[in-house]
Amino acid sequence: MFFGGGFRLGKIFGIEINIDYSWFIIFFLVTWSLAFGLFPFAFPQLGVTLNFILGVITSVLFFVSALIHEIAHSLMARASGVAINKITLFLFGGAAQLTDEPPSAGAEFKMAIVGPLSSLALAIIFGLLAFGANFQNIGLPFVAVTSTLAVINFWLGIFNLLPGYPLDGGRVLRAIIWHYNKNLERATRYASYAGDLLAAILVVIGVYELIVGGFVGGLWLILIGFFLFQAAESSYRQVKVREELEEAEVKDLMSDQAIQVSPAMSVEELVNNYFWRSKSRSLPVVEGEEMLGIVKLEDVEKHPQRNWQDLKVQDVMVREVQEVSPSEKASAAFRKINHSGEDRLPVVKEKRFLGFISLNDISYYLTLKKKKRLSR
Ligand SMILES: [Zn+2]
Repeated sequence: MFFGGGFRLGKIFGIEINIDYSWFIIFFLVTWSLAFGLFPFAFPQLGVTLNFILGVITSVLFFVSALIHEIAHSLMARASGVAINKITLFLFGGAAQLTDEPPSAGAEFKMAIVGPLSSLALAIIFGLLAFGANFQNIGLPFVAVTSTLAVINFWLGIFNLLPGYPLDGGRVLRAIIWHYNKNLERATRYASYAGDLLAAILVVIGVYELIVGGFVGGLWLILIGFFLFQAAESSYRQVKVREELEEAEVKDLMSDQAIQVSPAMSVEELVNNYFWRSKSRSLPVVEGEEMLGIVKLEDVEKHPQRNWQDLKVQDVMVREVQEVSPSEKASAAFRKINHSGEDRLPVVKEKRFLGFISLNDISYYLTLKKKKRLSR
């Protein structure tokens, strides 16, 4: 549930840290419930102002704790060879953005478990600080902050260990199933069933809480339940799509492109007779059998219209073009298109232009496959 939008906080260990705007909701709620709920009740002698300040400090340190949890995931991922570009903190905690699925069940297990373990380690550290301070008679405000953080981190660790995918515990479960059945897609399916079940249990407990009068707690559980349900579904779908594209080759998905242009053609003719007619923004430049490059409308538009008559296609075309081969896996082409920033890439075999493959082709293929499956 990314609400879109947020800002960049900075970089740690080369990983970009982002904060989604929705995260401010949780920051506000945590600060509010600590400053006006828990602290005045537990430490009335500290007074309203001090309790408010302590609430803010605890919230900030809670934020740092959540960040440490995500960084632990990221560093372990990097050690396993999975690139992590950024971490986004949002409404329900954080998410480290993986560029790919983990390479093995063992790697996934380590990457998943290290997050909750770091939260539990933080719980122990804050707990010891609170205990030591209490013992030494160091100020009550210090005890208030550290003991609260010990409790929050403890529950953060425990909640994330619940075995519903895509929670960390669900990833651990997926890694274990994957280890035994050697099938990532099916392991993900079972782990997301566990995620659905866990989501349903949270909603049922939430409704029960509502009925017996725990309004805020109940609503919170229901919200987390729905979020988890949606996350389980969409995470499974992602793996499913990747798996289906793993089975197909570029030549099964690509579109033939009849319209090609020659390098000696004038840009004026290119625009009048080819761009407008083909409704495409880029066309292959072919001489004989060989593809020389791609000519793009945006490059043509850089030149004033009065020059179009004298300019030739070869003057404005791009020669260094990322291409895919027809026997390449569709999943690899999908990744290449996403990284290229283009909406389609040329399919080329031994310098011969065969057609284009676009994100549209890929989604059309997936839809068709789904229809076939349903009608069977
Ligand atoms: Zn985690």
